[in-house]
Amino acid sequence: MPESVSQYVLKVASRCDLSCDHCYVYEHADQSWRGRPKILDGATVRQAATQVAEHARAHRLDAVSVVLHGGEPLLLGTSGLNEILRTLRTVIDPVTRLDLRVHTNGVLLDETLCELFADYGVQVGVSLDGDRAANDLHRRYSDGRSSHEQVLRALMLLRKPEYRHLYAGILCTVDLENDPIAVYEALLVEAPPRIDLLLPHATWDEPPRRPEGRPMPYAAWLGRFHDRWIADGRPVPVRLFDSLLAAWEGRRSGTEAAGLDPVDLLVIETDGAWEQADSLKTAFEGAPATGFNIWDHSVDEAAAHPGVVARRGGLAGLCQTCRNCTLVRACGGGLYAHRYRTDNGFDNPSVYCDDLKVLIPLITARPSAVLETQRTERPPWSTNGLPERAFDMLAAGPGDRSAMAWLADAHALVNRPLIAAAASCIERTYGDLRRAAEQAWELLSRLDLEHPSAMREVLTYPYVQFWATQCLRPGRGEALDLDCAHLAGVAAAVAQRAGVEAELILPVRAGAIFVPSVGAIAVDERAGRTSVVHVSASGLTCRHATGARQAVRRVTAAGMTLTVDDVDPFRDCQAWAPARRLSPPEWKAWRTAIPAAARQLAAEVPAYADVVAAGLRSVVPMRPGPAGRNQSGTARNAFGALALALPDDVDTLSALLVHEMQHVKLTALCDLFDLFDKADPGRYHVSWRADPRPFEGLLHGTYAHLAIVELWRSRARKAPDGEARRHFDMYRSWVEEATGILLNAGALTPLGGRFVNGMRTTIETWADDQ
Ligand code: SF4
Ligand code: SF4
Repeated sequence: MPESVSQYVLKVASRCDLSCDHCYVYEHADQSWRGRPKILDGATVRQAATQVAEHARAHRLDAVSVVLHGGEPLLLGTSGLNEILRTLRTVIDPVTRLDLRVHTNGVLLDETLCELFADYGVQVGVSLDGDRAANDLHRRYSDGRSSHEQVLRALMLLRKPEYRHLYAGILCTVDLENDPIAVYEALLVEAPPRIDLLLPHATWDEPPRRPEGRPMPYAAWLGRFHDRWIADGRPVPVRLFDSLLAAWEGRRSGTEAAGLDPVDLLVIETDGAWEQADSLKTAFEGAPATGFNIWDHSVDEAAAHPGVVARRGGLAGLCQTCRNCTLVRACGGGLYAHRYRTDNGFDNPSVYCDDLKVLIPLITARPSAVLETQRTERPPWSTNGLPERAFDMLAAGPGDRSAMAWLADAHALVNRPLIAAAASCIERTYGDLRRAAEQAWELLSRLDLEHPSAMREVLTYPYVQFWATQCLRPGRGEALDLDCAHLAGVAAAVAQRAGVEAELILPVRAGAIFVPSVGAIAVDERAGRTSVVHVSASGLTCRHATGARQAVRRVTAAGMTLTVDDVDPFRDCQAWAPARRLSPPEWKAWRTAIPAAARQLAAEVPAYADVVAAGLRSVVPMRPGPAGRNQSGTARNAFGALALALPDDVDTLSALLVHEMQHVKLTALCDLFDLFDKADPGRYHVSWRADPRPFEGLLHGTYAHLAIVELWRSRARKAPDGEARRHFDMYRSWVEEATGILLNAGALTPLGGRFVNGMRTTIETWADDQ
């Protein structure tokens, strides 16, 4: 059976009493309105209603929606609208539930029309672009008069108690000229039950206006609106935000402008032509046409038109760029019309792509109440896409390469919107540093399309992730300018990795420019706050370079390649006390010790060696601590990194590597899953610490020590009666005791219980070793 259609836009008038200069009906590419009847006649509405009813009957639809649209529908007056509404109710009501709506500019709305709409149960949506100045920008009569006063009168009528139930909401078209906060406040004053924010229709042939010096201006505009809306506690549903979030969370978006839901809408023109969505009028002359009409063709036939089918294609119907995009679930490639380019039709991302890449992470970073509900309703064993076997292997101790790859992928997914959100801070920066960031973001947007693997490599470098979180910290003041401009360093790293030549302005920090995962170049005083860098596959050249360079150094051994990063300005991810640049003898000690530790791990605990090799990307050398005390740590926002002060012996170094890697894995798991009640107030005594630990600390310590037990178990097998045996017994008893405390604390979720029981099973398996 063909696909059903449940939403119809019925064009009851092809003319309008306003002359808005942003109107896609009259001012954009498709001018078909000129040849259409001015109003829908009685025979046409009856035929349209019959087609809708027959289709609903054949497809057993529970409900259909018909929106009276124009031009301006209220031009038909009370009697014209009465005839149309009576016909629709008479023909469709006996078959299915009919949701009737009218979309109007509001200027003709009066009490008589409100009474009519009340009689027929018609919901009324009104267009308003903000306060008087905002609305007057476009929404005027042909003689230039403002329509604002009339629209406010219409909204006042709809707020009256007797008509309030008819008030569907306000549709507002974004214009960058308007202040988003002033628009927000003006709309809120009208107490709408819903606000619908619309991006101005545009295509790649006719791109939206983008004022110079305002990168991603639509994301910035909508971001400010969104921030205020969130700060006010979401006082009214805003469809664009709600739809993007719903699609991101796997629910229906309810609009063609978001998500991958199949489009379920047809338009009936005043001459009875079946057409596709009105927004296509912006693409080219005749773009919405199907060639079908209600007299000769059924809804099924119109719905089988290739243009309609194309918009039901979900992911498969999108261009390659969108199919590869991590935001596609929310974005869906944007509105179909916004993808159009003469050369290749609709096989493009949205012309608003750059803005959407910044906006969507801002919105989806805040889980909705629905998501919270779904979390608690999730089956207790759900591992949210991580294969159960991989989860259980992680719980048992080391995990394996596939589990590490899954955790890395999950982090890459989170990182991308995080970087985009950091880039959105450009809007709040100034001067030459702002220009550096803008230019970098432009290049990154191109590299993202053309070199996705180089992009991923750099964006997932641990200190890039940490840098992005720093940009998003509130109250950065002037420090934000410098931090945000580090985007240029990120772009330089991607360009070099991709072998793309580029010239970038990099910020100067402490007398040097920094490129994450690549290194630093000292610059002379002439550079000031920025310096121009030429990037090519062979390296970086900088016109202000003094000759002193500090490359980020790498160590490769036993299947492991990692950086020893003593350069990155964002490497201090957790007050780690990072060491300064290692001297040649110090570096020699590191490049000797790490391969030795890697080889030792491969011999002693090969499964742990494997996950260290798969997951560890960088080590930050720390300043040595007090004598006899090992220094090491990991950070929440730097997946794949750890910090340590180089110990004197390889045994200790290999133990520190597996110990810290346990923290890296568990931090990642805790980010992705609810393993325990984070509000648990308990403090728990454990054998390895004098001070009582919070539940999370106890869980982390237990998991880290599990790896140490296995390490000493391996050593004890080679020297059964020595110190290794004592260490194994001690650590094993600690972990056994700690898993008991964890299981009895009452703070674990079912999934957390499964995790701790996995550790417990491993420990119990080794009981016989005693
Ligand atoms: S009121 Fe609507 S249909 Fe009329 S000109 Fe303005 S945007 Fe176009
Ligand atoms: S953000 Fe851009 S690339 Fe991603 S789905 Fe949307 S339009 Fe496509």
